[in-house]
Amino acid sequence: MIELVDVTRTYPGGVTALAGVTARVEAGELVGVVGRSGSGKSTLLHLIGTLDRPSSGSLRVAGHEVAGLADRALSALRARHIGFVFQQFHLAAGASAVDNVADGLLYAGVGLRERRRRAVAALERVGLGHRLGHRPGALSGGERQRVAIARAVVGDPPLLLADEPTGNLDSGSGAQVLSLLRELNAAGTTIVVVTHDAAMAATLPRRLAVHDGRVTDG
Ligand code: ADP
Ligand code: MG
Repeated sequence: MIELVDVTRTYPGGVTALAGVTARVEAGELVGVVGRSGSGKSTLLHLIGTLDRPSSGSLRVAGHEVAGLADRALSALRARHIGFVFQQFHLAAGASAVDNVADGLLYAGVGLRERRRRAVAALERVGLGHRLGHRPGALSGGERQRVAIARAVVGDPPLLLADEPTGNLDSGSGAQVLSLLRELNAAGTTIVVVTHDAAMAATLPRRLAVHDGRVTDG
């Protein structure tokens, strides 16, 4: 699903956020990315998510060499193959849970009624069938993150990337979000989840450790 060979990312100004990363994630895996703040975890996730490009090296996602794709093709790859979840839920405050999730299908070429129908199904899948009409402000943090996860998976992407999805949650809600990720993984979605919660990371089947822009298994 994901293959990096000697990938670097240097930001303008000279910060080397990734200093030669070689790593693979197979289809069907659930992998934690761990490491201190500033070690390069988000940079790694952005590259895998094709939100950013390597400065050098080879990166293949879902069978495509990212360096060889123009921006439009990259956007299409992202829309079809990758769902994202972030620490700050990034939900539209004025929209219901259904409409927030339906937005995840904006680029799928599906009409509004069908988008809403699938959004309801995705919300039921994350245990929020009773919160369809609620706006984010009327939901708890854990519920908001589950809405964000529903939005990320409503298009059935094979790959889900989550950057500190439990970082803003109390431990109970965090555990719920993690068990939801496990369920999605068991149903076939490949998942890469960044976390600085060592106890949580320890429960995952595999970890990639990021240290000063370098990645090791462990
Ligand atoms: P983490 O997610 O592990 O906290 P990041 O990938 O966000 O780490 O950052 C890795 C390094 O790259 C840090 O030194 C950070 O300051 C730097 N960095 C991240 N994003 C940018 C950016 N857009 N421009 C310049 N430097 C950045
Ligand atoms: Mg980060």
